[in-house]
Amino acid sequence: TSETLDLKNHIRGIPDFPKPGILFYDISTLLRHGPAWKAAMSRLAALIAPHKPDLLAGIESRGFLVAAPLALELGLGFIMLRKPRKLPGLTIGLNYALEYGTDRIEMQADAVQKGQRVVILDDLLATGGTMAAGISLLRQAGAEVPCAAALIELSFLNGRSRIDTHFESLAAYD
Ligand code: IMP
Repeated sequence: TSETLDLKNHIRGIPDFPKPGILFYDISTLLRHGPAWKAAMSRLAALIAPHKPDLLAGIESRGFLVAAPLALELGLGFIMLRKPRKLPGLTIGLNYALEYGTDRIEMQADAVQKGQRVVILDDLLATGGTMAAGISLLRQAGAEVPCAAALIELSFLNGRSRIDTHFESLAAYD
């Protein structure tokens, strides 16, 4: 059952990916296990529903895998936060700092209406830079962001401290 499934049994750490010294947490094993994936989605749905979202936003690309099924489960619409130049029509974007260099995320300018409550989702929170940028961009578009959530949180990086809204995760690694 969803209560007895330990999510961590379905997530593996792959050393030296994408470069030496990095331990990469891989959700592929969770995705390919039907009952565990379903349990994970049910649990996340229960954590975010109390925040009464109008829409869910997913961060490209593994965030899509989390946000889209949750949106279906909760009967909500889904919006994409994407890498530059992927979205058609009028877009707004935000540049954010990486360890080396910068990155940018974009969304369609008309994706949210002013005051809509948008919960933002990704697979994993590391330093929190990506999620913080997503939250800022959604706010720039007029959204309220009552909650952010990820399957996994790397607690030792303290990314949570950069997230200035409620934050939920299903598995934390120290
Ligand atoms: P942050 O901006 O440092 O919090 O990095 C989070 C982003 O990088 C998310 O979009 C993740 O998908 C990705 N990421 C960083 N580390 C990992 C990992 O160990 N496994 C999977 N994704 C990761």
